[in-house]
Amino acid sequence: MSGHIHVVGLGPGDAAHVTPAASAALAQAGHLIGYGPYLARVSARPGQVIHASDNRAEMERAHHALSLAAAGETVAIVSSGDAGIFAMAATLFEAIETLGEAGQRVDVTVVPGVTAMVAAAARLGAPLGHDFCAISLSDNLKPWETILGRVRAAAEADFVLAFYNPISKARLWQLGEILKLLRTIRAPRTPVIFATAISRPDEHVQVADLANAEPKMADMRTLVIVGSSASRCVPRGDDDVWIYTPRRAAAA
Ligand code: SAH
Repeated sequence: MSGHIHVVGLGPGDAAHVTPAASAALAQAGHLIGYGPYLARVSARPGQVIHASDNRAEMERAHHALSLAAAGETVAIVSSGDAGIFAMAATLFEAIETLGEAGQRVDVTVVPGVTAMVAAAARLGAPLGHDFCAISLSDNLKPWETILGRVRAAAEADFVLAFYNPISKARLWQLGEILKLLRTIRAPRTPVIFATAISRPDEHVQVADLANAEPKMADMRTLVIVGSSASRCVPRGDDDVWIYTPRRAAAA
């Protein structure tokens, strides 16, 4: 008998952002698989088996889920935010593809989640109100030259830019290089949002001009949004601003 794999996005942190569909999928599962800190956000019910693993062990996690499902178990693989955005869902399908014909028999449901970009944007107003581009700055899984080329193309096309994985302990210089590149393409007054640990107890948000934006404003839990030429800041009291990108764009 074949089991079932639910791939579940837990949202950015706050339990209020876990969708009812995600909660239902988690409740059905006999086994919960994921990166330890994400699993810690799930209140497991008695009888559920928790399989916590290291951040980098994504392919092992996918194969583990597939072997449990092949044995008839119901499994939930969890990711933060949305599981399909820089997260486990793609890894699972990569593993399924390598199974060939056996992969066709795997029963999978992907449950969408509130991705960091959307939660961060909501804090500031509507910076993603018009065309935007999401790019991971991590060069663990793609060459740095590819990242630079994509950021340059997206910046020249005047998309609002949302950067995931802007910095980590092992990747300290990349964000500085990206900001340097953007200063050659976008105006100095372009708003740059550093939205850190959104919807978690240590949430903080900082807004800078592109001219003054610095890598130290970000850490591993930061989502960076860079406005397009149309993005606007609107005062909202207490020296704070709303940022939005109008829905109308001028002729290119
Ligand atoms: N699947 C996740 C993204 C995983 S990549 C999602 O859809 O949100 C990890 C990156 O996501 C982090 O480096 C950071 O850029 C962003 N991120 C995750 N949670 C966040 C949060 N609560 N606040 C701000 N950024 C967050």
